Amino acid sequence: MGKKHFVGKAGNMHYFERRTRDTGWKRRAHGMAICTSCGEWTEPPVLDRDDGGLIVVCPHCQYREPFTQYPLWWIAGSPGAGKTTLIPLLRRYLPGYIVFEGEAIDFWRFEGEPGDYSSLHNQWLKVAYEIALNGPPVVFIATAFPDQLDACTMRSRFSSIAYLGLVCSEDAQRRRLLDRPAWRKSAAPEFIASSCGFTRRLEEVGRQDSSAVVLHDTTTSTPDASARLIAAWVRDQSAHNSRTRGA
Ligand SMILES: [Zn+2]
Repeated sequence: MGKKHFVGKAGNMHYFERRTRDTGWKRRAHGMAICTSCGEWTEPPVLDRDDGGLIVVCPHCQYREPFTQYPLWWIAGSPGAGKTTLIPLLRRYLPGYIVFEGEAIDFWRFEGEPGDYSSLHNQWLKVAYEIALNGPPVVFIATAFPDQLDACTMRSRFSSIAYLGLVCSEDAQRRRLLDRPAWRKSAAPEFIASSCGFTRRLEEVGRQDSSAVVLHDTTTSTPDASARLIAAWVRDQSAHNSRTRGA
């Protein structure tokens, strides 16, 4: 039996997994990652296509089964860019969609080294996928760049990720962070610098390729006006996806 490693905390519960020398992480079973026929672990999935659509092929026994991908909407922004203010308004303007704030689970099963958030990004996509399986389209709100999501194993579960970046001027972002109550610890110079740095990088990515990241500037827009515009963008993308599927 290997040593137990802390993997997460929810309320008063602490969760551990056991690492053994021979088998590495002994993971809990997760639907799509296990072959229906031979029971082997099939992550990352090997995909193929036949007349009926997308197929996942087990690399161990070659068993083939249908593989459904879902569209996903991703709204990114660093602290002070306007995410938290927007979320309740987006829920109001997007009935029929699930609007989920990724930071609600930022502590959950995070296994990364300091500064390496790849396992967290993958975990966010896993949660988005589990929600998408229930039917309603998912709008996920969390701080990540498109290339970080593209590098995740769970990216394979999504046919597309429509990506919108919340940006604002450095002055506005700095002011919002300094205006927060002290308990949020948002006034530290390093925190402000890293939050503003994310916004500048997001702007750069969006300016280089607006098809990869649509930018929305919250500097002077009211939260209500931003929410209406972003909800309209989500619905436009949905209509586009429907047209593409119908084509
Ligand atoms: Zn198999």
